[in-house]
Amino acid sequence: MTVRVRIAPSPTGNLHIGTARTAVFNWLFARHHGGKFILRIEDTDLERSRPEYTENILAGLRWLGLNWDEGPFYQSQRLHLYKEAVQQLLERGLAYHCYTTSEELEALREAQKARGEAPRYDNRHRNLTPEQRATFVAEGRSAVIRFKIDDGREILWNDLVRGKMSWRGSDLGGDMVIARASETGIGQPLYNFVVVVDDIDMQISHVIRGEDHIANTAKQILLYEAFGAKIPEFAHTPLILNMDGRKLSKRDGVTSISDFQQLGFMAEGLVNYMTLLGWSPPDSTQEIFTLEAAAKEFSFERVNKAGAKFDWAKLDWLNSQYIHSMPVDKLTDLLMPYWQEAGYKFDGGRERAWLEQLVALISASLTRLKDAVDQSQLFFTDSVEFSEEATKQLQQEGSATVLQGIVAALENQPQLTADTAQEIIKQVVKAQNVKKGLVMRSLRAALTGDVHGPDLIQSWSLLHQIGLDQPRLSKAISVSS
Ligand code: GLU
Repeated sequence: MTVRVRIAPSPTGNLHIGTARTAVFNWLFARHHGGKFILRIEDTDLERSRPEYTENILAGLRWLGLNWDEGPFYQSQRLHLYKEAVQQLLERGLAYHCYTTSEELEALREAQKARGEAPRYDNRHRNLTPEQRATFVAEGRSAVIRFKIDDGREILWNDLVRGKMSWRGSDLGGDMVIARASETGIGQPLYNFVVVVDDIDMQISHVIRGEDHIANTAKQILLYEAFGAKIPEFAHTPLILNMDGRKLSKRDGVTSISDFQQLGFMAEGLVNYMTLLGWSPPDSTQEIFTLEAAAKEFSFERVNKAGAKFDWAKLDWLNSQYIHSMPVDKLTDLLMPYWQEAGYKFDGGRERAWLEQLVALISASLTRLKDAVDQSQLFFTDSVEFSEEATKQLQQEGSATVLQGIVAALENQPQLTADTAQEIIKQVVKAQNVKKGLVMRSLRAALTGDVHGPDLIQSWSLLHQIGLDQPRLSKAISVSS
């Protein structure tokens, strides 16, 4: 059998982490079996679908490296297909026009509630005579199309994640609406229906989606049967939970892939993390891998039934591993947009070669790409502000003289290298008979305005190349004396 799977996002919001994780599992499964991964945009909800969300979804999937083989197909361009399918069910007597008004449905629900029953449609228009229909039409009522659901049915499937599943027809809420009302016949076809028409048409072999769709699966199986189509395999993936064990939602703040991107996660780190949200490789000690490597190992046997907790610390750790192993030139490219967004200017000698030295200096301490904004701020601002601790350091005895000694020695060193910087420090230690620690601490406070930070010699060299070390030393001398 050829494996054909799909991701079918609705463009009613940006690409959500849950949808992206489902896309990851679909992608892994397709690649594992040498099958096809199809992208279908479910934009039948005209009021809530927006082109900018579609853009965001496509960009997010591309950014994550989840390349698709077919599509994107847009449901909004396939309406004729769905209407034909509705017509077919009507002609075969498997679906019917239902003229129940919303007031009648409301009254029905109220009565059911009063009796302590679950709300369901009572199938009252299932067997209307032509005369009854004509009367309703004459009254000006419009009709939705309902698909007949046999209450006595038991719907069974073997879920690739959850094992044996069973649903009773009577738990599906009565005959289901498959198309909205319309003055001109068949109105807008609805989700559960169009998904089946598409999955049949696209010859989907495995439907892999979130477990919030389990009840839909039961309904959809009945539709496959009605069309006499082969029923695909189903795999319902666990939900993503927050640390409190509740479904990850908008309230948790960041939920869309573009948010994660903005926060400074690398695509490779994020996609690696998503792979582990509910799946583990056969060698469970292995945590860092590419999508291709995961695809070799992927199977639903190792997908959990239980919800997957979203662990920021783990994501940060993975992301930092990817940052630290990135070649400097590539990492520089990745950091550029974050610096640009922060308003940093690449003037005054801040050229590519200089930027790469800066990246080499800070990369080991980055967890998220965006950390580079704070960590390199002192290299992008002309003047330095001294922190309280730095001021204290500068006011220590001997600090001013040490800094004056450095300024004097610098005059003979137009090209400051790591070696010459070390040399200057040695000279000052010797000439002034002070501890090396005092020189280093004073120098750091003067150059960076702080008492901690990246390697001092490298930082000095970088500041020297853009002519910022001397002015900072002078300013520090005025603070310290
Ligand atoms: N459009 C549905 C969603 O975004 C697709 C569900 C499915 O995969 O069938 O949840």
